[in-house]
Amino acid sequence: MRCIGVRGTSGREYRADAVLVATGGVSYPTTGSTGDGYRLAQQAGHTLVEPVPSLVSLVSHDADCKKMMGLALKNVTLTLFEDDKAIFDEQGEMLFTHFGISGPLTLSASSHLGDMKKHRYHAEIDLKPALSEEQLYDRITRDFALLANHAAQGALVKLLPSSMQPVMVARWGIDPATRANQITREQKRELVQLMKHWRVSIDARGDLAHAVITSGGVSVREVDPKTMQSKKALGLYFAGEVLDVDAYTGGYNLQIAFCTAQSFANNL
Ligand SMILES: Cc1cc2nc3c(=O)[nH]c(=O)nc-3n(C[C@H](O)[C@H](O)[C@H](O)COP(=O)(O)OP(=O)(O)OC[C@H]3O[C@@H](n4cnc5c(N)ncnc54)[C@H](O)[C@@H]3O)c2cc1C
Repeated sequence: MRCIGVRGTSGREYRADAVLVATGGVSYPTTGSTGDGYRLAQQAGHTLVEPVPSLVSLVSHDADCKKMMGLALKNVTLTLFEDDKAIFDEQGEMLFTHFGISGPLTLSASSHLGDMKKHRYHAEIDLKPALSEEQLYDRITRDFALLANHAAQGALVKLLPSSMQPVMVARWGIDPATRANQITREQKRELVQLMKHWRVSIDARGDLAHAVITSGGVSVREVDPKTMQSKKALGLYFAGEVLDVDAYTGGYNLQIAFCTAQSFANNL
């Protein structure tokens, strides 16, 4: 098969020796990328890897997220688990929202999600990654000695941001009236576990309309990587996000778009 041009929606035909499809993905459609490139590729017999939102906020049905919405955490570690196997682990910033979690760590973690119908996902947040469990236990012990007469929530004032303190007390299961000097060793150990492994269920990806990129697209097996020419139709080329190639934030997706377009241009 050979591609000899394009036909516009008005029916007008444009003849060309080479046709480049660089229509982007299907995320952030306000930028004009609404998935037309996928339909054009399919017309030429190409296979699509299912396009899904990536670099996107994550939806959690955990009510605690909503209770802490607006809370941004810095210098925490987020570990993403797929069926209890860690598949992503990084330190940085994240944010609780009314629907789940967002922020740079969450966006990066989202690009590691697989088929959410086949796997279960959850995240664990280490709120004090610089401290070992033992060091955190000692720190808590020192804090509780200083704040001896404060009730449980007040005893957390040096450890956690204010909007997280009541949520932590509820998850801890301790009687909120317990004074810091009454908190047992066992309860302190439970607190350490909660602070090192704050669990958030991950129930869905955020929507395509707000995803930074689309993961999936035209299968790269069907495109010559040197020229970006289709292996299904001579004269047809692909570049950029329409292809099944994606990466982290940091300019890598723009780099993919520039490099694939340059490979096409080099061979004209
Ligand atoms: C909010 C936001 C922030 C981002 N930040 C970063 C970042 O920091 N670093 C990074 O690397 N990447 C970032 N990206 C991703 C990056 O912008 C894209 O990966 C990159 O622009 C893809 O380039 P592209 O040329 O393939 O597609 P696009 O840039 O999407 O361009 C496709 C063009 O094709 C046009 N088009 C679509 N269909 C048709 C049609 N039928 N007819 C005519 N024209 C059509 C569209 O209007 C659009 O102008 C960001 C994306 C978003 C949305």
